[in-house]
Amino acid sequence: MIELKGITKRFDNQTVFENIDLSLARGEIIVVIGPSGTGKSTLLRCINFLERPDAGHLTVGDLAFDVTRATTREILALRRRTAFVFQNYALFANKTALENISEGMIVVDDLPKAQAHARAREILERIGLADKADAYPASLSGGQQQRVGIGRAMAANAEVILFDEPTSALDPEWVDEVLSLMKQLATERQTMIVVTHEMQFARDVADRVVFMDEGRIVEQAPPSQLFHHPRDERTQRFLRKVL
Ligand code: ATP
Ligand code: MG
Repeated sequence: MIELKGITKRFDNQTVFENIDLSLARGEIIVVIGPSGTGKSTLLRCINFLERPDAGHLTVGDLAFDVTRATTREILALRRRTAFVFQNYALFANKTALENISEGMIVVDDLPKAQAHARAREILERIGLADKADAYPASLSGGQQQRVGIGRAMAANAEVILFDEPTSALDPEWVDEVLSLMKQLATERQTMIVVTHEMQFARDVADRVVFMDEGRIVEQAPPSQLFHHPRDERTQRFLRKVL
């Protein structure tokens, strides 16, 4: 399970959020929605210390610590348990699809190369890119590149996969293939936190939708409830704009 307690993040003199509490059970799928600049990305980034939180407690699986006292070792352990999928894929341009997926298994998990490659081939099969093992990112479509990005996250065998607007940089024609891969992971009960503007995805896949506004979790509920009976006026206003 994942638990955030009292997580606070400031940049210089700006407090992005204060005292955020959020928890999810293993296998749970959460979609985070909310206006631009509200702190959604920063919150995700705090969960794997891409940004260092200023206060709070973090529990991820068997790992639990006070974020202000996190040791380098704990941060590395945390990163192994929290895989990140970026809006712009963030693939290594000079590595093939296979190498992008196997890199972490070799460097972080210390798997022998042959074993890492074998596992990467299984993942390529699952993400429908078995024939693209030796292709470089530049020769792949946006949708294929993002599937490799997701494949790399799958390879980490993480406790949770964090997705930050994984489809918003894609041409519309590639969005569906990425969303259906994410749906496939959801069916396998991969724990995930997804920041997205794809409301249909939220409806279909989320166990719970979290609405954030101005650094606060305003409301969270199963999609049927949050979309049809939002309680807070801010949620209602946001949904009127996006639905
Ligand atoms: P969007 O929907 O546009 O992606 P968001 O909800 O993901 O927005 P964040 O990117 O988390 O919002 O930003 C929250 C606030 O923190 C914004 O005011 C932003 O300017 C600020 N912020 C984010 N990253 C940094 C940074 N590295 N340095 C300074 N301020 C930052
Ligand atoms: Mg963002």
